[in-house]
Amino acid sequence: MLIALVWWSILLSEKNEEVYNAKFALLDTKLKHEEISGEVFQSSILELQNTYEAQRKMIMGEAIVFGLLLFIGLNLLHNAFGKELEANNKVKNFLLSITHELKSPLSTINLVLETFKKRKLEHEKVIELSDMALSESHRLEKLINDILMSFKLNKSYTYNYEDTNLVEFVNNIVQKFVKANPGIEFNEDYSSPNITLSIDREAFYSLVNNLLENAVKYGEKSPIEISLEESSGQVQIQIADGGIGISDVDKENIFDQFYRVGNEETRRTKGTGLGLFIVKRIVESHNGSIRVENNQPKGTVFIVTLKK
Ligand code: ATP
Ligand code: MG
Repeated sequence: MLIALVWWSILLSEKNEEVYNAKFALLDTKLKHEEISGEVFQSSILELQNTYEAQRKMIMGEAIVFGLLLFIGLNLLHNAFGKELEANNKVKNFLLSITHELKSPLSTINLVLETFKKRKLEHEKVIELSDMALSESHRLEKLINDILMSFKLNKSYTYNYEDTNLVEFVNNIVQKFVKANPGIEFNEDYSSPNITLSIDREAFYSLVNNLLENAVKYGEKSPIEISLEESSGQVQIQIADGGIGISDVDKENIFDQFYRVGNEETRRTKGTGLGLFIVKRIVESHNGSIRVENNQPKGTVFIVTLKK
């Protein structure tokens, strides 16, 4: 296209010049045959030169505009292609990590069941192995729920908003965590026993569950503070831990799909990087916002703000 454009500009310039030369020769012949006076010849030549110049500028201008449009178009195409490639790579990485994440709990569960079948074990050992298998099956359940929720949110998920007592709702989820994590302290602080908000319960469950799960996973067994506050038409949910914390650079990326902080401590934990992506989508579809701050003296605070 670029070659065609250059070729087209050269051709038009040549034609412009040919027209100028032909008209000039005609005027010259007319002058020689005294069909026109010297004055008329001069003024006609001036007019001819002006027209020639104007045409030349127009051709140049058009060539530059088309050239620029071509450049912008190519640039857009290049960016779109790059994005498509990036999305493809993300899906590829996702499938790789999902396959691994799906396989590893299943292998543990299979191993435990095979051990039960082959060996006669003492009651304590049975309990220990069952706990191990249960925790892996919960991990599998969470992963499948996150994958489903993530696909639902990517497509046209229809939210079903219902007026809900948020204190009761959050407290129920916290109690589930209290039971599952006896070594961790959960402190709840609600500004009022009744904070009502219109929410999609399934999606909101996933939101609170993911934030609490992260607080447990990256909280290094520190106490976890959950607070709910209602003021001037806004509801604020805070979930704070005193764990490993998040660097300022990573704070920019943690809400991206499949993003996991690349340090050793995070790598030791299992996950796919879907949790916070889902959380952000859900918060936004409830007309809210989410931000992350450092806790003092260490750890992380996630703050969700929702309009009533
Ligand atoms: P999963 O999809 O199973 O939730 P994940 O926990 O790795 O996996 P996200 O919940 O999306 O994924 O979190 C993204 C990353 O943000 C985590 O890998 C972790 O590095 C960091 N992160 C999230 N919450 C915390 C926290 N409370 N403290 C420290 N780092 C955190
Ligand atoms: Mg998570």
